[in-house]
Amino acid sequence: MKIICIGRNYAKHAAELKNEVPDEPVIFLKPDTALLRNNQPFFVPDFADEFHYETELVIKINRLGKNILPQFAHRYYDKIGMGIDFTARDLQSKLKEKGLPWERAKAFDSSAAISKNFVAKSKVKDIQNIEFKLLVNGEERQHGYTGDMLFKVDEIIAYVSQFFTLKIGDLIYTGTPAGVGPVKIGDRFEVFLQDEKMMDFLIK
Ligand code: MG
Repeated sequence: MKIICIGRNYAKHAAELKNEVPDEPVIFLKPDTALLRNNQPFFVPDFADEFHYETELVIKINRLGKNILPQFAHRYYDKIGMGIDFTARDLQSKLKEKGLPWERAKAFDSSAAISKNFVAKSKVKDIQNIEFKLLVNGEERQHGYTGDMLFKVDEIIAYVSQFFTLKIGDLIYTGTPAGVGPVKIGDRFEVFLQDEKMMDFLIK
């Protein structure tokens, strides 16, 4: 399986990192070795100085597809999860300055935390009208509303599938809202999708 991530998909987040709002989705990939599952702790790596959390709605693909049209994209997933796209922000900034790929800053081991549970899409009336949030040590740090996405889930699936065949089990991280920030050893992360707690783990 592969992990496809969308960058800069919320205007306020693009602005907080002084990035332009893109006119096409920004895509990058993580390998399956990036997955951090089952609420296992995130051990802060030592190859960079500042690791940021990015809380994101995650779509799980349930059907093989290529060149999917937006109007059919909804048939290609039936489960919604939550994830954290951990990012070595200082390293990413250096790579961006030089125009180099981001992989070392984005695709390292455990950089893709994923919720244990997924919610059936059928439980959600409109995927573009749901909220999610991250609490760090009980305090709200990120609050996302999917209606604010620059590229909607179905548009993302259609766009991505022009370049990459989507396979069963692939995950799409749909981008983070504003409020990203550095992790600290000892932090407790709790992620909610609507009112349902999806993740609860520690930074070590
Ligand atoms: Mg992200």
